[in-house]
Amino acid sequence: MNLQSNGEKRFFIHTLGCKVNQYESQAIREILLKAGFIECISKEMADIYVVNTCTVTEKVDKESRHWIGLFHKTNPNAKIVVTGCYAQQNTEDIAFLPGIAHIIKNQDKSRIADIIGGAQTEKQEPLFITDFKNHTRAFVKIQDGCDNHCSYCKVPLVRSILSSKPIDIIVSEVEGLIAKGFKEIVLAGICLGAWGKDLISSQIAIGAGMPSADLVDVLKALDKISGDFRLRLSSIEPKYVTDELIDFIAAHKRICRHLHIPLQSGDDEILRKMNRRYTAKDYKALVDKIRAGISDAAITTDIMVGFPGEKDENFMNTVKFVKEIVPSRAHIFTFSARSGTSACSMPSDLSQATLKKRYYELRSAALGASYLYRKQFVGEELNILVETKRDKNSGRLTGYSDNYIKVLFDGPDTLMGKIAPVRIEDMNLVYTQGVYEQS
Ligand code: SF4
Repeated sequence: MNLQSNGEKRFFIHTLGCKVNQYESQAIREILLKAGFIECISKEMADIYVVNTCTVTEKVDKESRHWIGLFHKTNPNAKIVVTGCYAQQNTEDIAFLPGIAHIIKNQDKSRIADIIGGAQTEKQEPLFITDFKNHTRAFVKIQDGCDNHCSYCKVPLVRSILSSKPIDIIVSEVEGLIAKGFKEIVLAGICLGAWGKDLISSQIAIGAGMPSADLVDVLKALDKISGDFRLRLSSIEPKYVTDELIDFIAAHKRICRHLHIPLQSGDDEILRKMNRRYTAKDYKALVDKIRAGISDAAITTDIMVGFPGEKDENFMNTVKFVKEIVPSRAHIFTFSARSGTSACSMPSDLSQATLKKRYYELRSAALGASYLYRKQFVGEELNILVETKRDKNSGRLTGYSDNYIKVLFDGPDTLMGKIAPVRIEDMNLVYTQGVYEQS
């Protein structure tokens, strides 16, 4: 079915990638709606498709191209507008694909309505959202850019400029979302912990001395907002988890006792090649400090398998390290060679079979660690933010605790989007189930 309108006003957005990209898609949605465009609930009805792409792996590059092709097939007369990190770097791969009307740089996302409408405008404005469609929790992007240059990562090539959203704007954005009914706000950034770095440099440049501005300043300002809500930090690099941040989280119940700190490898030789600038011992010391400061803190992480030159002993060091630090959840993924990064030219002789074997071995260690972490909460009551959709397989309610345990339980739909007390009852390697404690 293809219901085309004559005015080319009906749009459909597809988003790939991280929380920042999802936030930016919501901002694009609001910009287009404000400009009089109409959002379609089904892709068949659109005459403008916005594909907000990602380039973190080769697989997601392919997916980005897949969606462009699919939308052209769905409506060959539609305008396809491509933006996001893949479009930022690979303009030439996209430009001649059928249906492409515009390729919009990340920094020009705020101009999307003018660009589609053919208006001449140079204005680039900070993105701002007032809602978060189809999400139980709202992501708020407070920072952009990364200058860490990990050897495998393409992100600094596509989002290099550090930029921090001013605190007053963050506060007003969060206040609006809370007023809308969101019970959890997730603060997100390309390198979240670097919030404030560019503000400090700009103040030094104008001779304002040596000010301090970091994530704790943002949390202090947000903690003053009244209302029944909680705050969660998205991924943060180890070097930004300061003593002050740990103390602040420990002292403020409103901030989730959860830190997602990418590990990437538990082997020092691989960490050096990755240009991660810490050792496994440093990471372990940080984990110990967090657990001593924040009671029952959840530490989740990302770990890469198959970095070029990863030998059996390097890999086994990572497996051992996972068992030692007991992350409550770990995202395991395999190395993807990204053009333009230094790791792309590092030789690798790992077969697909070895990669697969290592992936499953590490995944099994991570599941074991997660089980050990969750087990300590059996019999305890946790506050669960109930998802607005039931679990697909079981039809039960589901949601996350402040310490990021996903729990399945029975209860009425009226709990959806709210924070509900749930007693943890039982678990296996993958699932945790509980009982809703009706008051
Ligand atoms: S910290 Fe490293 S992995 Fe993370 S975005 Fe920056 S360069 Fe990439």
